[in-house]
Amino acid sequence: MIMPFESALPDIAWPAAVSGRGMASLSILFQLERTQWWPAERLRDGQQAQLRRLLDHAARHVPFYRRRLGKVADADGDAFWQAWRELPLLTRQDVQRAGDDLLSRSLPDGHGELTEVHTSGSTGKPVRALRSDLWLLMWSAVTVREHLWHGRDFSAKLAAIRDSTKGKALHPAGERLDNWGFSTADIFRTGPSVSLNITTPVDDQLEWLSREEPDYLLTHPTMLDRLIRRSVELGLRPKRLRQVLTISEILAPGLRELCSAEWDARVVDTYSTRETGYLALQCPDTDHYHLQSETALVELLGPDGRPCAPGEIGRVIVTPLHNLAMPLVRYDVGDHAEVGDPCPCGRGLPAIRRILGRRQNLLRTAEGERWPLLSSDDIGKLLTLAPIRQYQFAQTHPDRIEVRLLTARPLTDQEARGVVGWARAKFGGEFRIDLAFPAELSRTASGKFEDFVCLL
Ligand SMILES: [Zn+2]
Repeated sequence: MIMPFESALPDIAWPAAVSGRGMASLSILFQLERTQWWPAERLRDGQQAQLRRLLDHAARHVPFYRRRLGKVADADGDAFWQAWRELPLLTRQDVQRAGDDLLSRSLPDGHGELTEVHTSGSTGKPVRALRSDLWLLMWSAVTVREHLWHGRDFSAKLAAIRDSTKGKALHPAGERLDNWGFSTADIFRTGPSVSLNITTPVDDQLEWLSREEPDYLLTHPTMLDRLIRRSVELGLRPKRLRQVLTISEILAPGLRELCSAEWDARVVDTYSTRETGYLALQCPDTDHYHLQSETALVELLGPDGRPCAPGEIGRVIVTPLHNLAMPLVRYDVGDHAEVGDPCPCGRGLPAIRRILGRRQNLLRTAEGERWPLLSSDDIGKLLTLAPIRQYQFAQTHPDRIEVRLLTARPLTDQEARGVVGWARAKFGGEFRIDLAFPAELSRTASGKFEDFVCLL
């Protein structure tokens, strides 16, 4: 693939002299191209070097951390990690309560201007996060890394259905940019990008997609699911689509298979949160994810607080390495994920097998809590039983599970019995299964959709 670099200097075509911001991002990318192959121990040494700077800065300039961090920043080698694991976890409530005490009183030279973002989690109570230009530079480099990993053709057209801002990117016109946004366009000459508001009715989205004919589509997994199912009903398949990039929600089992069967396009998922940035990117060679060890330390911890082994599911604890403006040290993002085996692709960046969501997505049984773990086979089987457009499972009582369905038409008795039988086999004979057919399936306060939710 010829990489069409964007030259910012007059009369310099090749090799290109990219813009200042592009150069800075390229210098990070140059390193990321190498560090991705480093063995785990070497990555951890790099993280330790950066964490010690971060902790030292936080202890000196951030009131919240003045007495919270002890002497961790002075420790070295294994002693550092021992002391690290003694540090308390930081909850969303801690962040909300700390307010301005989490902000740095002094930022080192070169970290640039600050921008503020708000995130609304499942509780609906927002968390404010502040980030610096330096943080944004690292974020840009990972954005481009993701394009490079997945071999994208920069001259192609990128479409996004993600923004829910009122009045923005409305149907039928949507919005149009002559490039893919600053992170990529600072370095590469790109094709155009187009966007449409995610609240647009699904039929209008499909009409827009067939008119725009993008090569790549970026959207939320549940939106993709609805688009594919509706496109099958209407016989309107996006013709040029090569990949679908999913963000922001947990990727439901079966969606990858559905997208490749109906649209002949690969799903490439990214795991990030607004307050911490990128956490993991999908591997180019497998469906697993690689932690972005160069920009964040992600710990997966079991109920006893110890790091999980491959195959175990743990809480996702994140420390962004470069946000000195508002350091988050051992921040509990509220999700769970399963540790993966070392990836066959050879990258040293630790692998996670899947992301599982929040505690409220756990099934409660007499023996305790467990993940419902719906596999793509499970969902595939369910979808053969009845004309189901969308589904959601809710544990409404200790012994009752409600199966909520949006269907193309009312179910026959035989179909309904089939679904109930499927749910009993999946969740266990101790549960009574109720079927419900609401007009819409509910989302969390932040607009995310969850396929299993415990209401106890
Ligand atoms: Zn891999």
